[in-house]
Amino acid sequence: MTTPEPHPIEPTATGPACELCGGPAVVHWQRRLTDDEYDAYLAIHQAKRDEQLLLGDPQGAAPTPEPLPLPADCTRAVHGCVNHAIGINAAAHVHAKTCTAPQVDDLPGCDCSPEPLPKPAPEPEPAQLPASWAAPA
Ligand SMILES: [Zn+2]
Ligand SMILES: [Zn+2]
Repeated sequence: MTTPEPHPIEPTATGPACELCGGPAVVHWQRRLTDDEYDAYLAIHQAKRDEQLLLGDPQGAAPTPEPLPLPADCTRAVHGCVNHAIGINAAAHVHAKTCTAPQVDDLPGCDCSPEPLPKPAPEPEPAQLPASWAAPA
């Protein structure tokens, strides 16, 4: 029996790293998953569903798994360091799965057309009050 080779201990980073240079990240924005990332994410969900079915009570009702996530439900964080960050306004948008930011030539922009911002929720209509509760004019 041989003893395994000792592995050198790598210094561990304390937080996320810049996607471009690997330096400490200070900002992040959202991007849609690439096809490969989405497939890997689906595989995790599918494995969870398979496990739920396997562990379900055979005499009880079959477990009803949650629906699988759609590409439009999924984003991942893209991290940037102090030198490799897109602009704050661009960072407010969700970027396309093909977006390669941060790239030095595109900064402070990127090479995709980000999704439009979601519409703010409409203000609720004020409730009608009894006339005797109306503020004096
Ligand atoms: Zn960087
Ligand atoms: Zn982009």
